[in-house]
Order: sequence, then C-alpha cells, then structure tokens
Amino acid sequence: MSSFLQADPVQADLVCFNPSCRASYAITEVLYNCPKCGGLLEARYSNLHPDPTELKRLFRDRRASNVPLDASGVWRYRELFPFLDDYRHVVTLREGQTPLLDSPLAAKFGGLDRITFKHQGFNPTGSFKDNGMTCGAAQARRLGMKRVACVSTGNTSASMAAYAAAGGLEALIFLPHGNISFGKLSQALEYGAKTLEVEANFDQILALVRILAEKLGIYLLNSVNPFRIEGQKSIMFEMLDQRDWQVPDWVVLPGGNLGNTSAFGKALREAWEIGLIDRLPRLAVVQAEGASPFYDLFHTGKFNTVENPETLATAIRIGDPVSWPKALHEVRTTNGVVEKVTEQEIADAKAQIGRAGIGCEPASAATLAGIRKLAAAGVIDPGADVVAVLTGNVLKDSDYIYKYHTDKLEAPGGVKIRSTFGNRSIVVPNDPDRIEKLLS
Ligand SMILES: *Cc1c(COP(=O)(O)O)cnc(C)c1O
Ligand SMILES: [Zn+2]
Repeated sequence: MSSFLQADPVQADLVCFNPSCRASYAITEVLYNCPKCGGLLEARYSNLHPDPTELKRLFRDRRASNVPLDASGVWRYRELFPFLDDYRHVVTLREGQTPLLDSPLAAKFGGLDRITFKHQGFNPTGSFKDNGMTCGAAQARRLGMKRVACVSTGNTSASMAAYAAAGGLEALIFLPHGNISFGKLSQALEYGAKTLEVEANFDQILALVRILAEKLGIYLLNSVNPFRIEGQKSIMFEMLDQRDWQVPDWVVLPGGNLGNTSAFGKALREAWEIGLIDRLPRLAVVQAEGASPFYDLFHTGKFNTVENPETLATAIRIGDPVSWPKALHEVRTTNGVVEKVTEQEIADAKAQIGRAGIGCEPASAATLAGIRKLAAAGVIDPGADVVAVLTGNVLKDSDYIYKYHTDKLEAPGGVKIRSTFGNRSIVVPNDPDRIEKLLS
C-alpha cells in the first residue's frame, strides 16, 4: 500500500470466524476450515488505517487508468483486501465494472418509487463469481498451486475454468453425474476445464474432493474459500463508489450458499470501520421457497438442512449453505431481513426485469420478487433507496426463458408456472398484406 495512505505495513491473517475460537493462521496456509474447531475462516487485516478521502480519490483516479490492475473493478479496490504480497500473481479478465441501472418499470412492479440494479451479469463469464474468482486464482498462484478444483454445476465452474485458463492453472470440475445445466457447463468445457462427472450427490462429491485436494495438492475454489469472499466484497465497494459513497437504505440479494451475503456484510462493516461510509445499509436476502434453510434459520433460530432443495433458480438450489454462520452475523449486524419467494413470483419478476430491457438469470430475479413482497408487507418503505444485485446474465438459462414465454415452464413437482407476462413469437405467411394487417 502506498505510503501516503498507510503509515505501517498491513498484516493479513486467516482468522476463525467462530467467536469462541478465533484461532489465527498465516495467510499463506492452505486451509478451508479452522483446524481447531472446523469453523469458517476469514481474512483479517491489522494496521489498516488508510485516509478515507485519499482512498476515494485514488479509486476514482484508477477508473481512468489503462493499467489492468486498476481497470479491474475488483483490484481497483485492492487496499481494502490487501492479502497479496505481490500483484504479479493476479489473473484479471477486467472483472467487475458492472453498471448501476435504474428501472422505473421494475420499481413499479416491486411497489417502490425507484429501484437501482447492480448488474453482476455484465462480468466476463456472466456472473458475480468472477469478482471472487480473480482473488481465489491469485491466491492459488501465490501459493504455487498448479491445479484448482470446485464442485459445482453452475456459475462457479464457468468462472473457475476461465480464470484457471487465463492464469495457466489446470481446472478440475466435479459434477454430480446426470445433473448438468448445459449453458454453464458448456462455458467450462469451452474454457478447457477437465470435467469429471461423479456418480454421487453434491455433498458426497464435496467430501470426495476434499480428500483428493489433500492427496494431490489441488487448491479448492469452492465458495467456502475465504479469498473468493474477499473479492466479492468489491461488489459493494464499486456500488458505493458509483454512488459517490452515498449509502442506500437497502441492499437486496439472492441467497444460496450465502457467500455473497457474507462478503457484502464484511465489505460494508469494513468500509464503515475505516470511515468510507457513515452508516450501514440493511441487507435483505431472498431465497427460493423450495431451498430456504436460511429463511427458516432467521425466523426460528434453528439451522436445519433441506434434504432435497428444489427450485428452477438452480444457482440458489442449495440445501446446506456453507457460509450460514457468517451470513447470519452479517444480516443481524445490518438489521437486515430474510424473505422467501415462490417459483411463480421469481418467474414473473424475471420477466419484468427482462421487459425493462435489463434481463437476468432466474436466481437474480428473486431480488425483485422479494422486494415486491417486502414492500407489500411494509418492511421496505415505498420511498426507500434500494439497490438490488442481479447476480447472473440473462443468457445463462435461455431454456427457462423460452419455456416461460411459450407457457411450458413447470416448477419441480410438475407444478405449472403461469406465463403472466408471456411473449410468444408469431408464425406468419410470406405475404406483406397479411403481415400488415397483423401489425396494424
Ligand atoms: C452463486 C449464485 C448465487 C448464490 O450466491 P451465494 O453466494 O451462493 O449465496 C445467486 N445467483 C447466481 C447467478 C449465482 O451464480
Ligand atoms: Zn476455530
């Protein structure tokens, strides 16, 4: 960190998140959970006392820079996650730099005066996973790892494959056999990842990969990886920078494994601690009804895994979210809420986001569906300043879109989704008169 920002060198450690443990480890240890208690780990920085005014100016100046590290919407904010000792380890595909988009149409649907979307679908592989993966890949290279692995059928594998390829790492993707989403899988194949289909379920494969990782010296880039969380903090930093550090009242996001909820909360707390912002926005996490263990935890105080999570929003189809202790802490710290929404609500909200000219994948639309519910219940004030994070690109799941608009979409269990805002194509003869008639 440059000297005018920071007097003493920053110390980075991995610290156990469990309040009754708090064991600390070197930032270069290859750890995914605390060896003492099994708790989650997070990066902690001591001696981090930058001048917030200088920092804001530095971030703003870097936006005009062509230096790759500054042009990245993640590494531009690197003083706020200083875990690397050498930035030559960084692999960047110019991730982040995603827009804030206002949508009067979506606001009306949600029952608010205005809504701003922070659209992470504009990332290089089409989801916010890139914000975290650039940091995870950098840490893998810093540790001298040659191979990286993850268990995922979705955006994590697409992102990891791209960053591994760009950084000269071998990518290993483990999938439950026969449970593949083709849009995202095809990205992984195109980016050259070695893809293994295992005859087991997600949790069993995760256990298997942990054994293999230790045996073969493979670095795991699943969402529990603390460096991915560090990178995802940049979503909040960039959003605040784009708003000239004006804090919104609410930040709304979908919840699956809850890595993003953890990252957003940590980012906001840390930004507040060093004086970049003067208050915290409230976090609203939205889950799909068929995969809502965090909703239950928040409302009952008890954590139970969902044995067979079911939702067409596959990116949030998680029954046993690894980061729930962190996420619970962050939602409580911000005086936040957790909501759940139905498949129909997600589908209609998604169609409205599309109709606004924006578009997103199903999991992302849970935000607008949740906002509509929270506004109707009086939890979110109609005049509130709300930022909703759209997590993935509209083209990630084109099959879903086509089915919705042609009235063929079915929720798990064969429940039909109504095509409320359907928009079908029309077959016409090659006849100008008849087409004219049709269009008038
Ligand atoms: C991964 C993902 C999510 C879920 O994020 P978590 O950090 O696992 O809660 C939501 N939407 C999209 C598009 C994703 O790729
Ligand atoms: Zn511990």
